Amino acid sequence: MRENLIDLVHNSTLKTVNGKVATYIPALAEADGQQFSVCLTDINQSYEYGDTETTFTLQSVVKVISFMLAADHHGLTMMMDFVDVEPTGDSFNSIVRLESANTKPFNPMINAGAITVASLLPGETPTEKVEVVTSFLEKLLQKEITINQKIYQSEYDSADHNRAIAYILKANGYLEAGVENAIQTYLQLCSIEVTVGDLAEIALFFAQDGQNERICIDGAILKVSKALMLTCGMYNSSGKFAAFVGLPAKSGVSGAIIAVVKSGMIEDLKGPIGIGLYGPAIDTVGNSVAGVDFLMELVKKYNLSVF
Ligand code: GLU
Repeated sequence: MRENLIDLVHNSTLKTVNGKVATYIPALAEADGQQFSVCLTDINQSYEYGDTETTFTLQSVVKVISFMLAADHHGLTMMMDFVDVEPTGDSFNSIVRLESANTKPFNPMINAGAITVASLLPGETPTEKVEVVTSFLEKLLQKEITINQKIYQSEYDSADHNRAIAYILKANGYLEAGVENAIQTYLQLCSIEVTVGDLAEIALFFAQDGQNERICIDGAILKVSKALMLTCGMYNSSGKFAAFVGLPAKSGVSGAIIAVVKSGMIEDLKGPIGIGLYGPAIDTVGNSVAGVDFLMELVKKYNLSVF
C-alpha cells in the first residue's frame, strides 16, 4: 500500500520544524526549510513524493562518489597511503587531528579526507578533475550535469576554514595538487546540482554494488565505499544512525541524503533499492531532520537494517 509511504513522508515533513537550513554557506540559506522530498527506486520503477523537481547541491554526498572514482583510478592501496577509513566523532570540518605530520586524514567523508581525495582525482586542473565525477554522473544518470555557480562562488568566497585544512594537508604531504587546485576541485564537486530522483539513482548504483549495464566499479572499492558510508556517512551521528537505521548512507549540509538498500522490499519495490531524500532543514550535526526521521521509520516498517 503506497499510502503507508505517503503517511511516512507526511509525518517526517512535520519534523522539518526541528531543523534549520545551513547558513554558513550564504547561498544555502535561501533554501525552503519546510520542504521534504523522497524518491525510492529499484531497477524497474520509482516512487516519488514531495516537490521532486527542486534542484539542490550534492554537498558532502559527493564525497563517497569522488572517493570511489579516485580509488577506481589509483587502487585502494594507494588511496590508503593518503586517507584512512576510521570514524572520528569530530565535526565534518574539524582540523584538530591533522596537526601531527604523520596523521593522514581519518576518512574521506570529513572535509580533510575529501579535500585530499579531490586532489587525487585524475587530471591536472580542477576542471579536468571535476569532469571525472561529472562524466561518471552523466553516464549514470543519462543527463547533463551542471555545477551551481552561485553556490560554488558563495562557498569559494567563504572557504577560509577549508583552505586552512588544505594548507595543513599540503604541508604534511597529503595533497597531490596545490591548495587552490584542491579547494576549487572540492568546492565544485560539492556544488554539483541534482534532484532527489538523481540521488535515488546514485543510491541504487551503490545498492547494485557498482555494477549496472553502463558502468562497472571494482567490488572491493564498493565494499569500502559502503563501509565508509555506514561508519562515517552521517557526520557525528553515524554511530546512532548505524544503530537505529542500519543502512549505508551519506548526507550533505544541503539536506541531501542517499541511503542504500542492498536487498529488501518496500511495497512493490524489490531487491537493490536506492533512496534519495532532500530536506534542507538540518540538525546540529548536519543531517536532514526529516530525512533521518523518514529513514528510521521506513527501516522499522520494512525491516531493512543490514543488521
Ligand atoms: N561544501 C561543504 C563544506 O565544505 C560541504 C559540507 C557538507 O555537506 O558536509 O563545508
